[in-house]
Amino acid sequence: MFNLVIFGPPGAGKGTQSAKIIEKYNLAHISTGDMFRMHISQETDLGKKVKELLAEGILVPDSITINMLEEEVNNNPDVAGFIFDGFPRTVAQAEALDEFLNGKNEKIDLVLQLDVNEDEIKKRIAERQKVSGRVDDDASKLIRRIDEYFQKTVHVLPYYEEQGKLVKVNGIGEIESIFTEITKTVDQYI
Ligand code: ADP
Repeated sequence: MFNLVIFGPPGAGKGTQSAKIIEKYNLAHISTGDMFRMHISQETDLGKKVKELLAEGILVPDSITINMLEEEVNNNPDVAGFIFDGFPRTVAQAEALDEFLNGKNEKIDLVLQLDVNEDEIKKRIAERQKVSGRVDDDASKLIRRIDEYFQKTVHVLPYYEEQGKLVKVNGIGEIESIFTEITKTVDQYI
């Protein structure tokens, strides 16, 4: 298996690039954000629990997130690999993921960091909100999400850097040229 984490702040383009990576490399996409939104729209018990948190831009507790993710991985036993999008977002999640994959004789092979500065993020999400209708794209909620990113999520980077798995890709520019950079990196690791 080839397991990839795509990493970056809100609005970095993780979803856009993930879709292209999946198509080229035939990986299964796991986006915890998409999964939570699906639970919310289907009004499941889990959806009811996390609805407020997502609307406010607050991270869902690790235990809930980790359980949901592990279940999804277990439900897809025959894939060429996974692309994890929006997970791990805390060091505890990164550790849990390593332990979980280890138990299956699998591992994370590569962590791609999409590098986008804060000004660009704010611009992109303001644009996205006009079409996405996502309540957490609202300006005040976005501040909270960026805060969560800098408080909790950035610490995941040194975790993977120490393991020699982190590669930074410039996330500003044409979608296609960013993707070309990504494929150059993936091709070295796959
Ligand atoms: P973004 O566009 O900010 O990358 P996502 O779609 O990945 O957004 O996530 C939206 C929201 O879902 C987050 O703000 C958070 O509330 C919740 N969420 C998603 N993934 C995680 C995670 N790994 N841990 C905790 N909360 C998460």
